[in-house]
Amino acid sequence: MSTDHFPYKIELHVHLDGAIRTETIIETAKRRDIHFPWKTIQELKSHLVVTSPPYTLQALLEKFKTFMPVVAGDRDAIYKLAYDFCEDSRLHNVYYVEARYSPQLFANKMTNGDKPPFALTEGDITPREVVSIICDAFEKGSKDFGIIVKSILCCVEHVPEWSNEVVDLCQEFQSRGVVAIDIACGDLDPEVPNKELHTRAFQQASKLGIHRTVHAGESGPAEGIKLALDEMHAERIGHGYKVVDDPDLYERCRKENIHFEVCPLSSVKTGSVPDDLNKHPLHRFIDDDVNFSISTDDPIVLDNDLTSDYKMVMEMGLDKDHVIATIFHAARSCFASPEEKEQILADLVKVYGDKFMKM
Ligand SMILES: [Zn+2]
Repeated sequence: MSTDHFPYKIELHVHLDGAIRTETIIETAKRRDIHFPWKTIQELKSHLVVTSPPYTLQALLEKFKTFMPVVAGDRDAIYKLAYDFCEDSRLHNVYYVEARYSPQLFANKMTNGDKPPFALTEGDITPREVVSIICDAFEKGSKDFGIIVKSILCCVEHVPEWSNEVVDLCQEFQSRGVVAIDIACGDLDPEVPNKELHTRAFQQASKLGIHRTVHAGESGPAEGIKLALDEMHAERIGHGYKVVDDPDLYERCRKENIHFEVCPLSSVKTGSVPDDLNKHPLHRFIDDDVNFSISTDDPIVLDNDLTSDYKMVMEMGLDKDHVIATIFHAARSCFASPEEKEQILADLVKVYGDKFMKM
């Protein structure tokens, strides 16, 4: 049995729909009698996994259109993919994880009567029902695998009309492990139409004590990060690599201890960081002791896991202590309750010692 150098991991930025097992998609297509051109795991993987440049965020997001219609609106598939997610996390010694998803993208009945975005046929699974199914699966999975799994509900950047419902669902399911709101499916673009609907939802979340993280400054400009902080009260930034382009903003983020959810392989496969990995902002983050952690983002299209992303950053020059420090950053910046955080930190000290508690 190989030993894991990091036997207690934490993951703060992973999309549930980006972490579905390929076999679940193939089996579900078969069970539902959906015409699906990819019959084996290998065929589907080679279609989904982005292997050659040019790498763009849009190309990566396009891949979701292939498989989301298979699982959207199917109660059993949604439960299974969420439960399996817990097992896969445990397999990589991820003991605390926050998984994010858009409830609307899994639904087959929209609250406003619109056509569901992905589901092939309409039914009775509303966004609210989606959250309820996933909470059930996470509760069972957490218990069965001895880990903590929380949910972050995502707004979708190009559909601001859903954001109000997302914040309502965050509030309703707060007691069932829904800890935060996010904006996904793009990169916070200062020019997005109706963005005030997103802004309003985030301000409401802040009032209700719901945590906030925002995808920004990934492939889009650093300005998106400013918007996330100033108008959306973001506590963490998804990716945020472009922060280094704006020295004042970078300084501010350091001062305010803003947490960056860095996804190393994803940052390359979306073309968000320079080709030369020596110029990856992660090196500056390390040098400047920036508050950041390491996550996978979308394993189904990246063919990664947290173990492989840790390995990647070590090949980029980080040492073991650097990586452990990021796990402690994640523990301090996660959206668990203060009591849970205290317990997580105590567990981390047991595994890695107390020298990382200084910061
Ligand atoms: Zn993401």
